[in-house]
Amino acid sequence: MATAVAAKVFKNFIDGEWVEPRNGKAYENRNPANTDELIGMFVSSTEEEVNQAVDAAKEAYKKWRLVPAPKRGEILFRAAELLVERKEEYAKDMTREMGKVLAEARGDVQEAIDMTYYMAGEGRRLFGQTTPSELPNKFAMSVRQSIGVCGLITPWNFPMAIPSWKIMPALICGNTVVIKPAQDTPLSVYHLVQALMEAGAPAGVVNIVSGSGSKVGVALTKHPQVPVISFTGSTAVGRVIAEACAPDFRHYSLEMGGKNIILVMEDANLDLAVDGAIWGGFGTTGQRCTAASRLGVHKAVYKEFVERFVERAKALRVGDGLDATTDVGPCINESQLKTVMEYVEIGKNEGAKLLTGGKRLQGGAYDKGWFHEPTIFGNCNPKMRIAQEEIFGPVVSVIPIENLEHGLEVANGVAYGLSASIYTRNVNRAFQATRDLYTGIVYVNAPTIGAETHLPFGGTKHTGNGHREAAIAAIDFYTEWKTIYMDYSDKLQRAQIDNS
Ligand code: NAP
Ligand code: MG
Repeated sequence: MATAVAAKVFKNFIDGEWVEPRNGKAYENRNPANTDELIGMFVSSTEEEVNQAVDAAKEAYKKWRLVPAPKRGEILFRAAELLVERKEEYAKDMTREMGKVLAEARGDVQEAIDMTYYMAGEGRRLFGQTTPSELPNKFAMSVRQSIGVCGLITPWNFPMAIPSWKIMPALICGNTVVIKPAQDTPLSVYHLVQALMEAGAPAGVVNIVSGSGSKVGVALTKHPQVPVISFTGSTAVGRVIAEACAPDFRHYSLEMGGKNIILVMEDANLDLAVDGAIWGGFGTTGQRCTAASRLGVHKAVYKEFVERFVERAKALRVGDGLDATTDVGPCINESQLKTVMEYVEIGKNEGAKLLTGGKRLQGGAYDKGWFHEPTIFGNCNPKMRIAQEEIFGPVVSVIPIENLEHGLEVANGVAYGLSASIYTRNVNRAFQATRDLYTGIVYVNAPTIGAETHLPFGGTKHTGNGHREAAIAAIDFYTEWKTIYMDYSDKLQRAQIDNS
């Protein structure tokens, strides 16, 4: 068994330096597919380290905000080039620390590359508006201004993509950042920041403070010098963060849970719908905020669809994500596996029909990791807990639906509103669904997952607080508007009074 002595030790990254932890404590980051493998030792930081990082970010902000945005963009562009060169290495490390299969880990790094290039280009845009004044010899415009130090708190399921969604727009707009990676997946954040530093990001512009949400996360969200908090994670923690940010009127963006649905209508291409349901439900072991954890299937095709879906789920190979034959990796950790197992019991007790799976995988190599069978419950009532609550594992609940109206009611009948999808060949129904599904993202004839970085990402209701990540929407969050009036008339002109 690997020992802590042999493991690589990662320090916090503050003001351009790897700094010794002040309290000396470290924690282990292990591979969820093989817990014998120690990925590295990371610092369990305290409030002191957060304060140190915020001080550095605040100091660096004085100069960084004045660097012309196209120059900031050049640094991001070089970082993207480095990520391209290192994609394979970083993807393998991500599979080791997070468990997702290698093809998906490559996709995660690619998403960070896409976001970095996109925001690099934004350095030559960051558009505001110019508009005529209502008064003569007066000019009006709006410009975007940076805000200051951004505190970024990220989850483990997209270890590089999600941090890039926050870091890159924050930086291109002229802010500096302190990021607290999820305890389960800090290494991918180190890789991302490494690329930025080598690309020329000045000291203090990006800082990493690793450790727990309860210490590092809380300290960041209440720090008086951190005017912006961006969080992705569970709805329960999001609520705590909202409360912490409210008294000081901090800007906060919350991307939280989901209970996403695929609607399969009676005229759907069933082969396509089964492919989509497998990928949407069991991709990333169901540990995506956009996972298709519910299926609403029209009663006319219910039997046939479910038979095919179950057959395909049974054939999925669960194992180590580095093995090219693996379809589904492990759960991230023991506690997530336990949550999945608890929900399986809840589903059985609620009277849902267990169609396949339902057990932790054990024996041989499985005993070293957190593996669970792909699991499907049929005949679900939309009010059951397994059809309402986010499980975040390889469990899909199938709900029979009567017609489109019923399907839309079921789709919208949950607390969350991230992503939804419909499989149909009827264009009228497709348009009605895109209009009436109250979610941040809708797919037609594709599963609930597959976001692209140049479109807004986020959700309604308990999924978000009205902001969006990615695309120009992210620029809106990381800047504030400043409206400028330039009067060159040489006299007092009173708006609304002198122009009538
Ligand atoms: P989580 O438990 O809420 O943790 C998210 C992050 O918040 C982690 O870095 C965590 O630190 C930190 N944290 C925990 N308590 C905190 C506190 N009181 N104050 C400040 N920070 C705190 O979520 P998770 O289990 O990592 O991720 C799964 C959840 O994320 C799911 O609900 C999923 O739907 C959601 N998610 C949403 C999106 C989206 O865009 N909508 C995307 C991905 C995931 P630790 O490292 O100590 O846990
Ligand atoms: Mg780990």
